[in-house]
Formats: sequence, C-alpha cells, structure tokens
Amino acid sequence: MAVRKTKFGSFVVGEMPEGCRLCVRGAKLVLFLTGLCRLSCFYCPLSSLRRGKDVVYANERPIRSSRELLEEAELMDALGTGITGGDPSLRFRRLLRYLRVLKEELGPGHHVHLYCTELSRERLRRLKEEGLDEIRFHAWSPEPVRRAVEVGLNTGVELPSLPGSFRTLTRLLKDLEEVGCSFVNLNELEFSETNSQELRRRGFRLKSDTSVAVKGSEELALRVLEWASENTELDLHYCPSRLKDGVQLRNRLKRRARRVARPYEALTPEGLLVKGVITGIPRERLEGERRRLRRKYGIPPELISVNGRRGRLETSPEIAEELSEVEEGLRFFWVESYPTFEGMEVTVIPLPLRSSAGRER
Ligand code: SF4
Repeated sequence: MAVRKTKFGSFVVGEMPEGCRLCVRGAKLVLFLTGLCRLSCFYCPLSSLRRGKDVVYANERPIRSSRELLEEAELMDALGTGITGGDPSLRFRRLLRYLRVLKEELGPGHHVHLYCTELSRERLRRLKEEGLDEIRFHAWSPEPVRRAVEVGLNTGVELPSLPGSFRTLTRLLKDLEEVGCSFVNLNELEFSETNSQELRRRGFRLKSDTSVAVKGSEELALRVLEWASENTELDLHYCPSRLKDGVQLRNRLKRRARRVARPYEALTPEGLLVKGVITGIPRERLEGERRRLRRKYGIPPELISVNGRRGRLETSPEIAEELSEVEEGLRFFWVESYPTFEGMEVTVIPLPLRSSAGRER
C-alpha cells in the first residue's frame, strides 16, 4: 500500500476512516459531551471555557436537551455526528441517551463515531447495541482497543503526531494491528491557548508565523505513514491542521449557512453570511420604521426585517448601500458574520462605501 494524498489535502495509507470522510465534507455535527477527563495529556488542546467543565455543546451551541441537539443537526443538515470531549465515557448515561436520540430521530444511517479513553466490556456492548458506528480511542496502548474489537465495534485510535515519537508510534501500530484495530488517525499537533506553555517548555516550536501547527509534526506523521505502508495492513490517515480549519470547518459553516441564511443574506466562499444592517432607531420604533422604508422604496417584505435582540433592522447588502445614499439620520453597515448559533460578527463596514473605510473587529 502506498501513501496517497487525498483531495482534501490529508494523507492516507489504505482507506480513510468513514468518520473522517463525513467530517472533511463538513457533514458531521460535533457533539461535545463533557469537558471532564481523567487524563491530563500535556498536549490537550481544550479551551479554558471547556476543560474540566461539565458542559455540552452541539457545534458551537451550548445545549441542554435532545430537542436542541436535533435542532442543530437539522440546521446543518448533518449526515453524522462525532461525539467528543473531554472523555464522553465519564458521562455514560448522557452518552447513551444522546446516541439513542440521534439514531432514533435521524435514522440508523446517521453515522456516529465516539472519542474516548477507556471503557469496560459491558459499556462497549451497550454502545454496540445502541448502534454506535465507530469508536476511536485516545490511547497509547492496545488494551482498550482489544476489548472494543472483541465486542464487534469498528475500532480505531486517534493520536497527535508528536515529533520525536516515531519509535513509540510504530511499535504501537504493530500492537494495534495484532489486536484487530481497523485504523489510526494521526492529527497534526497544534498550539492552543491552554497547551502552549507546556509545549514550549518541552521544546516544541511553531511551524510558521501563520500557523498554530507544531514544527516537525507533519514530517513525523508522513514518516510513520511511509513506514506503515510497508510494515502493516492498518488503514492510516494523517489530518493536517490546515484541513481542519481550511476545509472541514469551512464546509461545515457552508452547510449551516445554506440552511439558516435569510432571504436578504448573501453567502461568502468562506461560509460566512453578509447582510445590510440599519441602526439609529429606538427599539419601539423599529417596526414602524420598517413599514415606512418598505412603503417608500417598495422593498419586498422578505428583504427587510426587525432584529429585536440586536435592536436594529436587517436587509440585503445592496438595499442597505442604496438607502445609505438617501436616508439621512439612520446608520447603515455591511455586516459579515458566522452562520453559527451565536452568529459572531467578524467584519463591520460603515456605508455608504465612498465615505468610509473598512473596519475589522
Ligand atoms: S484524553 Fe483528550 S481531553 Fe483528555 S486530557 Fe487527553 S487530550 Fe485532553
């Protein structure tokens, strides 16, 4: 088996795992089941908002119920779900409940993969019965894998590609092959807000000024893939940092943007939404002002609406630009935002364009 570059920019020996296949297309919902974990890996990338906290997120949305989980799956038209953490096995009842809901409501074909550190045979059996499609252990030993394989689960291992770990990884691959592991997914090691001090202390450095990836991580992964292509039958996949941000996240944003875009919002190639925003109107007059603008300029009703939460009117970028030329007393902007639950706004440009310079925040 030779090492191949995939069309997504990752590298593979054998087949790409099914969970990764849907993930790179942006078709997997990310269900963060808990920030709790019994390990404390020095490279753990979890943010301080999530690490050690028993919180649940569906993509970027904090959730409290199955209904909210399903809403988020619907909004991004998810074809599958990756359940992650922390260690989801530490909230086993919650894990079973959400797995059951996903399979019952979205159908048995909704592909679910789970990340965890270790599970008893009994719990693995329960997950198998509930229809879990794939399990991935964050483990440097074959033991947890052996149990999952015995139970009949499609089992893999997912680890960061740590520079200097060639011998450890290749030995592990041999052991994993022996216990019947199906695949290994190596991730490019990345600096995060929470692990950067420890990574630096251990001598790891940034790959470049424009990347959070660790120098040498990709080279190590490719050496391991080369070795594996000649020495094992395992499927091996290497997921570079640029794939996660540049391809996977963008694809997921685009999927959600297509579903949540209002008729007046335009979709950018990066999966962001652009709209026109009108401010400078007291909250109690928003609806009246909307009616006045509609009547005066013949704006179709679906192209202008009141956003009560943000206390403003919203319309298309083109209409906002035109109105900004003639409507004195109101303020107009182009606003670019993420199509996520919070809808974080990343660019705000005052209108009309001829008298303003772009401003980023
Ligand atoms: S197993 Fe995962 S969540 Fe737990 S400490 Fe290690 S990297 Fe962090």
